[in-house]
Amino acid sequence: MKRRKALKQLGLGLSAGWVMPHLLTSCSKDDPGPEIPFDGNVVIIGAGAAGLYAADILNAKGINVKILEAGSQVGGRIRSLRNQPDLINISAADFPVELGAEVVYGTDSIWGTNIQNFRVATNDLESVSSDQFILDNLAKTRDEWESDGDFASAQNFVDNLMGYSGPAVTAATAAAGLPARVSNLVNSQIGNFYGSSNANLGIAGVAEALQTRAHDGKRFTLKTNPMQDFLIFRFDQVRELIQLNTPVTSINYTSNPIVITDANGGQIEASKVIVTVPLSILKKNLISFSPGLPSAMSGAMGNLGMDHSIKVVIDFKKNFWGETSGFIWGGSSFPTCISAGVGRSEFNQTMSITINGPKAVELSAQGADMVNTILAELDTIYGGQATQFVRRDLNTDQVLSLILDWGKEEYIQGGYSYPLASGSLSDREALGVPVGDKLFFAGEATDVSGDAGTINGALASAERVTEQVIKSITGE
Ligand SMILES: Cc1cc2nc3c(=O)[nH]c(=O)nc-3n(C[C@H](O)[C@H](O)[C@H](O)COP(=O)(O)OP(=O)(O)OC[C@H]3O[C@@H](n4cnc5c(N)ncnc54)[C@H](O)[C@@H]3O)c2cc1C
Repeated sequence: MKRRKALKQLGLGLSAGWVMPHLLTSCSKDDPGPEIPFDGNVVIIGAGAAGLYAADILNAKGINVKILEAGSQVGGRIRSLRNQPDLINISAADFPVELGAEVVYGTDSIWGTNIQNFRVATNDLESVSSDQFILDNLAKTRDEWESDGDFASAQNFVDNLMGYSGPAVTAATAAAGLPARVSNLVNSQIGNFYGSSNANLGIAGVAEALQTRAHDGKRFTLKTNPMQDFLIFRFDQVRELIQLNTPVTSINYTSNPIVITDANGGQIEASKVIVTVPLSILKKNLISFSPGLPSAMSGAMGNLGMDHSIKVVIDFKKNFWGETSGFIWGGSSFPTCISAGVGRSEFNQTMSITINGPKAVELSAQGADMVNTILAELDTIYGGQATQFVRRDLNTDQVLSLILDWGKEEYIQGGYSYPLASGSLSDREALGVPVGDKLFFAGEATDVSGDAGTINGALASAERVTEQVIKSITGE
């Protein structure tokens, strides 16, 4: 009863049928197993999916763990509208509105399996929706475009991404033979989807990751529970180990114990440190390491990018793009767009858009006006209906929309990591190599299971890093 009250205070909607985490330890990776005898302590930097899962595994093994999180809430790039009290009234949606990660990839992936183990209601996008593709300012299904030769070539290119075996070039170079008319379409499904644009994204690195990926890749959303709530619920057992509002500024690992300094002037000692901050934070040297990180790591970082990213959520009074439309591909200002309510609500009138790379930089400079840019493009495609049906504030007539500019979030500074032209899984592997037996790295960018850039990648990296930490303790 007390636990239920505590979860309620966290804003967690406990749905009927959920199974408490401690009842499921036998089906998860963090089966407590034998305790690991260790007099020292492990400090984890970052309370996103990777940090929480790493803490959960080590805590279950009896290791003394603490998590330092710079921000004021848990979840990192998993952030749901429901937990943002200042914004919540902006959307009228009666289903979970996500401001970060939204789609779960793989019914048999790490995150997919967790969700199903806990009997969280899910919404299978493959069965409730069909994708729409924009070409010549017309949005149609794959079947409807079938007879268009350019469309067929573009989709052939996208569908065969995994089989790419050409040189290590950008996606734009590899797609140079395709007609200009399909370039937005291909950019939205490849460049933007994997974190940037075709001009920056390395096609060989993406293909290599897709070949390595082990799950079925099926896409689903959570039917009634916000993703952030489920994440916090799943890792409830480490909640009390998290210290919020603690931005780490330096880590001195020559000393024994390691000394971690935060922006509040606090100092914390640790025997081992796991760093799970986003790649952009490391690339921009926002945490200073003493001594500096090995050159193999900086070299690897040079082959990976993490670009600007923005999530825009727009409510309409009418669904003018189709009740069964799921993803809508091919927009220039709305490159990765999902009809967020599909399969979840009869009020299926919300578009959720993720913009990455140079386009995100361009729209970010427009501030709130970016929504007008998106509406204008939608108007061209859907005969003026976007401006006509967009929800507005009754008093001010202002368009109601949510913008989360992830590139401007102090402790994230971008979307998710991606390979540059010469980037490969070996770079991600190099990022995850422990420095001595003291400094360890996790987070989506260090994933080598083919799921970098996603929640699955973050969780897989936690499994890998905790094995490294435990090995450094037991010597086995
Ligand atoms: C717009 C958008 C849409 C996405 N869509 C999807 C999707 O549909 N499906 C999917 O699977 N994935 C999606 N992703 C990617 C997914 O959200 C991430 O891959 C995953 O959440 C990363 O988890 P992480 O633990 O590696 O990093 P994070 O979640 O970023 O956690 C790192 C934590 O470190 C903290 N931190 C940073 N600096 C410091 C410091 N100096 N001191 C202490 N703490 C610090 C940060 O505040 C953060 O909480 C999306 C991401 C974005 C931005």
